Amino acid sequence: MGAGPAALCIVAELVEQGLSVTALASHAPDKPWPNTYGIWAEELESLGMASLLGHRWTNTVSFFGNGIGNEGKAPVNHDFDYGLFDQSALQKALLRRCGELLWHKETAKDICLQGANTEVICSSGNSYKARLVIDASGHRSPFIKRPHYESIAQQSAYGIVGRFTSPPVDNGQFVLMDFRPDHLTKEEILQPPTFLYAMDFGEDIFFVEETSLAFSPPLSWNTLKERLHSRLSHRGVEIVEVIHEEYCLFPMNLPLPYRNQPLLAFGGAASMVHPASGYMVGALLRRAPTLARKLAKYMNAHPNWDSKTLARKGWKVLWPLELVQRHRLYQYGLKRLMSFDELYLRQFFATFFRLPREDWSGFLANTLPLPRLLMVMLRLFFLSPKKIKLGMIFGASNSNKY
Ligand SMILES: Cc1cc2nc3c(=O)[nH]c(=O)nc-3n(C[C@H](O)[C@H](O)[C@H](O)COP(=O)(O)OP(=O)(O)OC[C@H]3O[C@@H](n4cnc5c(N)ncnc54)[C@H](O)[C@@H]3O)c2cc1C
Repeated sequence: MGAGPAALCIVAELVEQGLSVTALASHAPDKPWPNTYGIWAEELESLGMASLLGHRWTNTVSFFGNGIGNEGKAPVNHDFDYGLFDQSALQKALLRRCGELLWHKETAKDICLQGANTEVICSSGNSYKARLVIDASGHRSPFIKRPHYESIAQQSAYGIVGRFTSPPVDNGQFVLMDFRPDHLTKEEILQPPTFLYAMDFGEDIFFVEETSLAFSPPLSWNTLKERLHSRLSHRGVEIVEVIHEEYCLFPMNLPLPYRNQPLLAFGGAASMVHPASGYMVGALLRRAPTLARKLAKYMNAHPNWDSKTLARKGWKVLWPLELVQRHRLYQYGLKRLMSFDELYLRQFFATFFRLPREDWSGFLANTLPLPRLLMVMLRLFFLSPKKIKLGMIFGASNSNKY
């Protein structure tokens, strides 16, 4: 179920395993996705898919203001290529691998067990039965059960692709996080921190996005828009033409679904968004092949296994103990970060990017094995100034109810 990146990734792999797949989605699978997806180029290179990048930047930097003495005034060079997917190329590449599969334009309304199988009942009145249903309908799925969580921290962002009176970032540059606070008033600096995510698309077109990493309740798009305008005008940059606006909102710390439910999920519905960075597409591409391979093995070897058994097995493959524990660590980290005010957050990230590149990039991609992840987190702790250390243990006084 679904036709976003998660659905296409898992369907392509299931088809490749020779399984009989029926795909249901509210819209045609080749309808352009509304979001732009970014990724560190190395993640795609390791999958042999770097040709799917539509843009790639070598000049990749962040700014953390004057967080640590004078050090933070200069850009921090990441020396690591970042890219944006060519959405259409990614979609087409995945759909090509789905072969002749027929996609039914259907919206699932209800899902229930029917003996050994699962039945999906759609708004059209049609219903479909399968040995196993995989819900890839995104983080809002009403079908996937998970523990209740008081306040879900959400990443929110407002961005513009457009033309400007002067370049908002250097030519050919990608800015992961610009936390410089010099445009903020004394009152604004006490508000939840936001940063600029920006890039040069060439031909005088730039993408600039004011982002709140995670907050509960989420920062409103109006606030982010005002902040973006004030940041740009403080630098003497005016917007000449808006080509596209991006409104971004998604949960960062959605609890993991119950892993004994008879319905399996993949992507946003399975809480696969990285709780500390908000990235997911790399994880989808990495984790889909194993899940599909194991499901094919179970289904072929055990023709009498019912939906409940298959889904439970699937959940174990998707969320093995190692990944569950890493997820918990990331969630702990995010919780602490959410208590940091603007200055603490800048100091934290300035320290984070002083880690060796393999460490910070592995942390962000969630590719470090658990023992190494723990070591990296400890290293970060020891590198941090004293008050950040205390904040990491006890949380900072800041405020955020999250
Ligand atoms: C604006 C934005 C920018 C992002 N940027 C990045 C990024 O740069 N890099 C990154 O890695 N991640 C990014 N993310 C996070 C994450 O990768 C995306 O949220 C991603 O789109 C989630 O993929 P998904 O396939 O799980 O869900 P979705 O993309 O939400 O797709 C869900 C699909 O299910 C269908 N559907 C929904 N309900 C039903 C139903 N009842 N029946 C049938 N079909 C249904 C929908 O029509 C849709 O096709 C971003 C998220 C947002 C919102």
